[in-house]
Amino acid sequence: MTEAHTRSTSGRSGRFIALEGPDGAGKTTLAAQLAEIDYDTALDRLASVGTGQGLVFVSRRQISRTSAYAAALMEHLSTMLWHSGDDPVLSDGFWASLQAAWFTAHSETVIAPLLASGFDVLVDGWLGKFSAQLVSQSFTESALEVVFERVLKPDAVVLLATDPAAAYDRGREFRASELGMHTGLDGHELGRDSFITYQTRTADTLGLFAQRRGWRVVDVASSESVDDTVSRLSSVITELRHYPSTAATVSAHLLVTGDPRVPTGRGGSQALDAQGSHYRWPAVDEGLEKAVTAQMHRSLSDRDARGVIGEFESAFAEFVGTGFAVSFSSGTSAIHAMSRAAGLRPGDGVIAPAYTFFATASPFAHDGIEVSFADADPVTGNVTAATLAAAIRLNTRAVIVTHMWGVPCRMDEIVELCRERGLMLLEDCSHAHFASWRGQRVGTFGDMAAFSCNQKAITTGEGGVLVTNSRTHRDHALLFGHYNKRCLIEIDSAAAYYGFAVTGMGVKHRITTLGAAIGVHELGRATEIESRRRATLDRYTTGLAANPVVSPVLVDPASRHGLYVLGLRFHPERALVSREQFVALCHSEGAHAIDIAGSTRDISGEPLFARTDPFAAWTPPPPRPRPHLPGVEAFDAKFVKLPLWGYDGDEPLVERYLAVLDKVSRVVAL
Ligand SMILES: *Cc1c(COP(=O)(O)O)cnc(C)c1O
Repeated sequence: MTEAHTRSTSGRSGRFIALEGPDGAGKTTLAAQLAEIDYDTALDRLASVGTGQGLVFVSRRQISRTSAYAAALMEHLSTMLWHSGDDPVLSDGFWASLQAAWFTAHSETVIAPLLASGFDVLVDGWLGKFSAQLVSQSFTESALEVVFERVLKPDAVVLLATDPAAAYDRGREFRASELGMHTGLDGHELGRDSFITYQTRTADTLGLFAQRRGWRVVDVASSESVDDTVSRLSSVITELRHYPSTAATVSAHLLVTGDPRVPTGRGGSQALDAQGSHYRWPAVDEGLEKAVTAQMHRSLSDRDARGVIGEFESAFAEFVGTGFAVSFSSGTSAIHAMSRAAGLRPGDGVIAPAYTFFATASPFAHDGIEVSFADADPVTGNVTAATLAAAIRLNTRAVIVTHMWGVPCRMDEIVELCRERGLMLLEDCSHAHFASWRGQRVGTFGDMAAFSCNQKAITTGEGGVLVTNSRTHRDHALLFGHYNKRCLIEIDSAAAYYGFAVTGMGVKHRITTLGAAIGVHELGRATEIESRRRATLDRYTTGLAANPVVSPVLVDPASRHGLYVLGLRFHPERALVSREQFVALCHSEGAHAIDIAGSTRDISGEPLFARTDPFAAWTPPPPRPRPHLPGVEAFDAKFVKLPLWGYDGDEPLVERYLAVLDKVSRVVAL
């Protein structure tokens, strides 16, 4: 490796200046005349002394001189690039990627060493004209920022503003791409007219860039002699060589939405509004208002289940298909009641998913039950019989599974495992109100199941429900949230635990009557909620079928999705950018509701589960090493989610989100 190459990563001390302008503006001629030292001399200086000064013109077509190998490689690459624009079937994404690679290599091997050694560098066009063309196709400036992330940004740019007609008439030969191929003009005959149309458009976009990015604009009249232009330009360049760099401010000038001047259908006007939340939750319609108002007049507090609380619980039990439902103030408290009703004690063990919302497991930890964590299937994010089996310990007495993001776990094999090993099976169905596994509703596979009803597919505002077919579990659950009147009425006085009916077990976690009224109303329209959300899911599934970069996390064909959110897998190996950059690009197109999950992730390292804190009311479990969770890591690193809209008037929003996903994916696809 040469001296020059090793320097390329050190900081720059020279100035990097780009001349930009449409084809025919005279960038190359002017840059060559403005230079103080030619490239070969600069290279010699670099090789012998390692430092230098003066303004070097580096042609965009300059082949790297850093090694013979690079020279051979770059010769082919530059030939290819030179002609790539003339290929009518080359996709924009391919072309952008190729150019990005070339610009990056050129930056690092040719420009950076010169700058690091003290030379100032002048180029006859850098990203400007090319970006202008991409913006007029389907790219936004923010997309280009990502695609060209590693390309060296000039410290200053001078835009040569010139009349395209005059440029054409100066008589230079133009290539097909300069005449407007790839720009929507290829149906026309390529010649003077197409050149003027295309170059005027490029000049306009460059003008817009100049305005936003603080480029210097120099008008170049066709009547002016080259010498006169050079002398005017050289004073501008001298000034810029001593002026503070603008490179740092470039990224602050992003276009948030598509350029409104871009022709419809080519990307620009498809962008969503930049403002506002797109996902409304819940739909507060007249029916809901009436239900809540009526309940306010009926009762604001019920001590038993003879009013709206009983109505809600019966409707919920029917909805899931279980014998009993007991409502709670939250999903978390329903899970807590489930853990106590399961009869688990400090020192007992439960297996929970490592990848879930923490409230699946945290109520167990609260009571000193040792949680061990099971890995996930890398494709669905769910625990499997195999990952659960691997987490079984001597003290394990129960298993809790979560049907992540609405995708049901493979319940037949999990039921089988629990039966074989004598483990109690609990389900957290908070993501899965509408899910079934091979014909059987989730929430009915185990001993008990819990549903959160806060911002989930069926809501009570805040609230949660425990369902079971066991009367004993139902009674225990009542004792852990609904003491006194209700327990006295509903628990058989012959039961061994009837003596606790008045006090319960010391806690109260009742749902409010208003929450229950909301729940009754929502369950009344469950069929409508389901069919709308399922239609949205189907639309996304079809719309994303050919997407190269993201694909929906789908359920087993004989099963049904729970319709909480739509999970997507981002495929980093097929994209130019990271998942985070991809999501940022979608946001820059206005699709804010596309999201990377925050608190739902690997929870196994949370200190609560070690309970070494002074609040623990029992002896903490022995310290255990953090489990190895390759499935969780693989799933979580690729996961992106979208709301499943299901309200009146949401259809156009779904179409626009699909359009954004399509557009951004095309931009970043490899
Ligand atoms: C929402 C949720 C909970 C907790 O429910 P709350 O009603 O918020 O207490 C538990 N588990 C999962 C998987 C959830 O998504």
